[in-house]
Amino acid sequence: MTHVTCARCVVCGATYEAAPELTVCACGGVLEIEYDYAAIAQTVSRESFARNPDRGMWRYRAFLPVEESSPSPPLRVGGFFAKLFDLSFTSFITVSIAKVLFVIAIVANALAWLFFIVWGFRAGAPLGILALLLGWIPALVGIVFSRVGIEYFISVIRTAENTRDLLNK
Ligand SMILES: [Zn+2]
Repeated sequence: MTHVTCARCVVCGATYEAAPELTVCACGGVLEIEYDYAAIAQTVSRESFARNPDRGMWRYRAFLPVEESSPSPPLRVGGFFAKLFDLSFTSFITVSIAKVLFVIAIVANALAWLFFIVWGFRAGAPLGILALLLGWIPALVGIVFSRVGIEYFISVIRTAENTRDLLNK
């Protein structure tokens, strides 16, 4: 790491070569990463930040103790509402609401079965019993189709996200 000079102990001041697995000094003190700000200033500037479209944590990669050769895995930040009102459409909301949609689908199908039973018994006992015994089949088929539909949309979104991440590299 050319932008990191060393890992310095906050207690005794001993210095070590910065390494991910080394976080504590021999004396027990915590090691603090020291950066070579002169070297960092060669790679970033106010202008480079203004041009950088990355709004994730990797925007500040130059200030993180990460090897130059390490990849930048995407880390999604922001909650449901941040994504809902994300006007740049760089993150996708469907994945986060898929769980909710699926629960709604289960409840809706269960209610449809219940409605079917009530309607059946009103029309006569045999029809009610038939609805009770067999009504779960269309409900289950409905849940399966909702699941398949949601999974299809998620796979499309995942593909789009992966493509975008590849382009950003
Ligand atoms: Zn120490």
